[in-house]
Amino acid sequence: MDCIFCKIINGEIPKEFDYESDSLVVFPDINPSADLHLLIVPKKHIGGIRDIGENSGNLLAEVYQTVNQLVKDHNLSDNLYRVVLNGGKAQHVPHLHFHLLGGNWKRMV
Ligand code: 5GP
Ligand code: ZN
Repeated sequence: MDCIFCKIINGEIPKEFDYESDSLVVFPDINPSADLHLLIVPKKHIGGIRDIGENSGNLLAEVYQTVNQLVKDHNLSDNLYRVVLNGGKAQHVPHLHFHLLGGNWKRMV
């Protein structure tokens, strides 16, 4: 499948992960929109929010638990941060991913 995030996850495109579990990876956005801009990406190819099924509960819980840990690791608790999930025309990479934006973001994604 010609999916850039699948290629990163499969190691076809070399990339250091900030964090990896059985279900997801975390790596920096190539074009950061904030001081800290990480992508939390499920390993399984799920196209987007419309493809989230009723069995995705554990995965989504892990995504937000991972965000919680990243917020702590980067001392964002008393700072500006947000989690963004783009869909429809706002989504450019068709593989489900969550943006963690921290610090003073320059623009919205
Ligand atoms: P979307 O608009 O789909 O929510 O966000 C896609 C994000 O993926 C963009 O912020 C873009 O900068 C990032 N991105 C696209 N291609 C790559 C890549 O090859 N490597 C990394 N690290 N980020 C990418
Ligand atoms: Zn994919």
